[in-house]
Amino acid sequence: MGRVALVTGGTRGIGEAISVGLKNAGYTVAANYGGNDEAAKAFTERTGIPAYKFDVSDFEAVQTAVKQIETDLGPIEVLVNNAGITRDGTMHRMDFSRWNDVLQTNLSSCFNTSRAVIDGMRQRGFGRIVNIGSVNGQAGQYGQVNYAAAKSGIKGFTKALALESASKGITVNCVAPGYVETDMVRAVPQEVLQKIIKTIPVGRLGTPDDIARSVLYLVADENSFITGSTISINGGQHMY
Ligand code: NDP
Repeated sequence: MGRVALVTGGTRGIGEAISVGLKNAGYTVAANYGGNDEAAKAFTERTGIPAYKFDVSDFEAVQTAVKQIETDLGPIEVLVNNAGITRDGTMHRMDFSRWNDVLQTNLSSCFNTSRAVIDGMRQRGFGRIVNIGSVNGQAGQYGQVNYAAAKSGIKGFTKALALESASKGITVNCVAPGYVETDMVRAVPQEVLQKIIKTIPVGRLGTPDDIARSVLYLVADENSFITGSTISINGGQHMY
């Protein structure tokens, strides 16, 4: 049995590609999801990967679920913080719940899950944490003060935890995708999406596998010297 990996939001979109990529590479994978039972059931039937339903924004629920996963599969040595949502709207129209839902689900979740696994990783002297950021956290985006703040916050979170964990064999990195063809992006109106594609030098949306490959690279045992980094995968849309 390979190392145990937990992928949050691991049953759909980018998370599904990461879960499947890890499984194919020999990891024992637990895929988390939030509420879409139908998609999770279909995912498990398709892939054979167990799906665990819990809300990543709920600190206590995460602690309980991580204990359950570790009982079922063994200690979690790889954590991919991928679960995320959008609740778009310009600032002058955004109510507190849209702000708070996105901050809790996209950013506080990284604390909730990392806090649940970090003691074990430190004791065992090995760990790999990858946090999924976004080009919109790097560049900002109209109608996304909540999402951009959360994704930008992930970058600082990554660096600080990388510093704290470096001497313990734990690496912490960030992958910042550009626009990737998933349900999240399919929800963007077609005319807006066509405009966005025109701003991508490579001339297409990314695929979930484009992102999954970088996660596999970062979590590999031999990549112990990459920590605190962000890999931007956006078809050249934003460079800095
Ligand atoms: P999808 O909407 O396709 O899938 C989201 C996944 O996250 C689902 O499995 C969903 O579960 C899960 N999830 C959502 N909220 C919670 C919650 N509270 N608790 C547990 N699980 C939850 O998203 P994408 O694949 O498009 O995005 C994945 C990540 O990549 C996100 O962090 C996103 O912000 C980021 N990203 C995506 C980009 C894109 O273009 N698609 C671009 C840049 C970054 P369920 O099925 O139950 O709803």
